[in-house]
Amino acid sequence: MERTISIIKPDATAKNVIGKILTRFEDAGLKIVAGKLTRLTKEQAGAFYEVHKERPFYGELCEYMTSGPVFISVLEGNDAVALNRKLMGATDPKQAEKGTIRADFADSISANAVHGSDSKENAEKEIKFFFPELAQ
Ligand code: GDP
Repeated sequence: MERTISIIKPDATAKNVIGKILTRFEDAGLKIVAGKLTRLTKEQAGAFYEVHKERPFYGELCEYMTSGPVFISVLEGNDAVALNRKLMGATDPKQAEKGTIRADFADSISANAVHGSDSKENAEKEIKFFFPELAQ
């Protein structure tokens, strides 16, 4: 069993598709073991995306992630990290495979509907960041 973090981003919460996105996870066999609807502070977004600090879109990304509510959840299942990434599709929705969350719900490379941890190690860090009570 593996755990990963999913964040449903402000564009998707604004479109009222939290339920539809969570259903994709459940239908794929992932179990939602924790979840919260929240609005990130500038400090939280900045710290969460620290790895991208040197990238040109860092400011825009942090601004965007604080622009509305987000739904953060912990997903559990076999190969949860890779499975969630597969369900999400490519970062740029234009490149995302048909039937993926980003192909179906995302608007642009920054407003791209979902975040998902990109490795087991980062999943553990991200779970600790948002749900310290769950960290192993
Ligand atoms: P992910 O793992 O597929 O989410 O992609 P990355 O880790 O590469 O990037 C993190 C997030 O930064 C993405 O989900 C996008 O929201 C944003 N991002 C990535 N590349 C770009 C870009 O070229 N321009 C802008 N504006 N945002 C980007």
